[in-house]
Amino acid sequence: MFQSQLFSKTRREDPKGEVSQNAKLLIRAGFIHKEMAGVYSYLPLGLRVLNKINDIIRKEMDALGAVELELTALQNPLLYEKTDRWSGDKVDIWFKTELQTGGELGLGFTHEEAITELLKNHVSSYKDLPRAIYQIQTKFRNETRAKSGILRGREFLMKDLYSFHVSEEDLDNFYDKVKGAYERIFERIGLGDSTYITFASGGVFSKYSHEFQTLSEAGEDLIYLSEGKKLAVNKEVLNDETLSELGLSREELSEKKSIEVGNIFKLGTRFSQPLGLYFKDEKGGSWPVVMGCYGLGPARIMGVIAEIKSDNKGLVWPRAVAPFDIHLVILGKEVELSGDREALTETAKTALEIYEELTASGKEVLCDDRDLSAGEKLADADLLGIPFRLVISDSAIKKGKFELVDRATGEIEYLSEAELLNKVR
Ligand code: ATP
Ligand code: MG
Repeated sequence: MFQSQLFSKTRREDPKGEVSQNAKLLIRAGFIHKEMAGVYSYLPLGLRVLNKINDIIRKEMDALGAVELELTALQNPLLYEKTDRWSGDKVDIWFKTELQTGGELGLGFTHEEAITELLKNHVSSYKDLPRAIYQIQTKFRNETRAKSGILRGREFLMKDLYSFHVSEEDLDNFYDKVKGAYERIFERIGLGDSTYITFASGGVFSKYSHEFQTLSEAGEDLIYLSEGKKLAVNKEVLNDETLSELGLSREELSEKKSIEVGNIFKLGTRFSQPLGLYFKDEKGGSWPVVMGCYGLGPARIMGVIAEIKSDNKGLVWPRAVAPFDIHLVILGKEVELSGDREALTETAKTALEIYEELTASGKEVLCDDRDLSAGEKLADADLLGIPFRLVISDSAIKKGKFELVDRATGEIEYLSEAELLNKVR
């Protein structure tokens, strides 16, 4: 893609009224736009990052044998009455609205009720189980704290997976597989070394749930981490009984601030029973389906990366989720790449040639063809944080060597055009 096609402009100054580091950087770099507190749009660069995160998640969900669907954002209050999550004060983050024709609706903050009700049409026998179903869909939560940028949106993307089983044993088995899938997701995204599985409070069915917590000073959670055992306990469940159950001692734990990026739960029959999702066993006996649910926040993950992988010059994307692989920056005047190819300057012609070669070899390249000073272009490249920057200039062409800079390490290599293409391939 040519940078002149992007409408988003970078800013040198922090946006007013934004306190979180992730939103400041992502807005300055033109990845997101703040509509209002806790509500952000994703611009082309930001959407590319989000989609890459989603692709990694989808691959791991599909490998679990899960299938994807998309449920509605508008939710039916009748279902939530049955599980006692509509009236009363059990859920304090509902966005509710009224129909012109009378009655109420809710904007989905989660989808256990909806998917359980839906499955009543498709599950009746033990032969219909197990099932694993997921979506990557927009959730709405009336969060009181919305000062953390895309870490805590009032409208945000969630991957939610639900599983359905004939027994607790089968659920336990699948639950462990999901843990493994989550570990691989964070590894692939580039957060593997700073994300820890954490024991947290469970709910009615199980004593604990498991959170995936990424260490960050911007975090709102406190966890107690054993780095040696790669295991943590959320502050809310820290007590001697839990520690002895997990074989942990207080001495080996250190207190860390962290961000919850994922949370997996055994639900048991908490939803199947009140909503009436039952199956018949081999002898014709009727039983409530045993369920699990598994959440992950793609937008929050993007925010976490902006928080912990940036430096004083800007964003630094891990390769797997970067909006582009290579930022090809053309320095010098008259870089206009459209129009008659023969009329191009030698620098522009070379740049176009390299752009086409790189793209043909499967690389995603952002080509800075804008008519701006070298200083502005290089500062923008640092701010955008694409893993490799390749500079094409008159002097580089004269020398026959191009500068390739690794954004994360600052390492510079000087390569001829042939060496460059070889390396990339
Ligand atoms: P928190 O305790 O931070 O409010 P939660 O426990 O309510 O989060 P879950 O209901 O477990 O969140 O949601 C599953 C996942 O969705 C979370 O692990 C997180 O990654 C993401 N998520 C939850 N709330 C938000 C939000 N307001 N903005 C962005 N992502 C969110
Ligand atoms: Mg949670």
